[in-house]
Amino acid sequence: MAEALFRRLAIIGIGLIGSSVARGAREYGGIAECLVICDADLDVLARAQALGLGDEYEADPARAVAGADCVMLCAPVGAYTALAAAIGPHLAAGAILTDVGSTKQSVLRDVGPLVPPTVSFVPGHPIAGTEFSGPDAGLADLFRGRWCLLTPPPGTDEAAVRRIRALWGILGAQTAVMDAPHHDRVCAIVSHLPHLIAFTICGTADDLADETRQEVLQFAASGFRDFTRIASSDPVMWRDIFLNNKEALLEMLARFSEDAQAMARAVRWGDAAYIEDKIVRSRKIRKSLIDLKQA
Ligand code: NAP
Repeated sequence: MAEALFRRLAIIGIGLIGSSVARGAREYGGIAECLVICDADLDVLARAQALGLGDEYEADPARAVAGADCVMLCAPVGAYTALAAAIGPHLAAGAILTDVGSTKQSVLRDVGPLVPPTVSFVPGHPIAGTEFSGPDAGLADLFRGRWCLLTPPPGTDEAAVRRIRALWGILGAQTAVMDAPHHDRVCAIVSHLPHLIAFTICGTADDLADETRQEVLQFAASGFRDFTRIASSDPVMWRDIFLNNKEALLEMLARFSEDAQAMARAVRWGDAAYIEDKIVRSRKIRKSLIDLKQA
């Protein structure tokens, strides 16, 4: 049997993404000989153990990373500074530190300075997920056919980047390397702004008068229903994403607000051609997604 990529992989944070990586590692093999699972929440850790997601379970991140040749942070990005401070001194020389956080400039800012020089730092972000969270929500095939974006800082050991690419390859994802600011702008428009709009529209509906609010729920059309699905995502994770991708998110929100105003103007003045053109362009985007198998 071919040797696994890593001898000992420590996954810190065993929620939707961490448990999907763990399940994939189990199901497809070849990633790690020993999987160490760590979570701050003891109930979550016990649940991960009951589900058989790892080989060892450890609540203390410093102990979890001891002797690991790969460590993957899978906690909300707001927890990263404290986590990096806790594990930094205990990372093994020659190990690779990676992550799955949805914002990447903040990860370089918060974690980068705490990574020992003997450790390679290869931040990553799988573009895959669901609105569910916790260890029960994970799926071995969550990353199949999806992308994982890697943002290694300049000068990162190429061999370490190749190994992280290989890990995602086993989980079925394609990888692309880009710089962190570019990553954050792309994700602001494809993921963070849509979530902001979903949270906002649900709030707007909830603020309606009692009678109307009841009807919103009773007669929810597919458009509103789709927003409620997105808006049911984890509050801590999304709070952290918004606060850690502030600039790019505000830039995309400003662009969106301008375009929404232009649409409002077209509606007010009965500019049918403008409205139709926008809808036609949107349908083309949907078709391109389907063609790229990302729908
Ligand atoms: P999740 O299901 O809420 O899981 C996160 C887990 O991390 C929870 O069990 C949480 O425990 C634990 N945790 C929090 N602070 C910790 C700490 N200091 N040490 C150890 N464990 C800690 O969230 P998720 O959806 O897997 O997201 C994890 C990461 O993946 C986030 O950085 C997110 O940005 C990124 N991501 C998410 C998606 C998505 O669609 N969900 C997609 C791509 C990337 P508690 O519940 O007790 O806080």
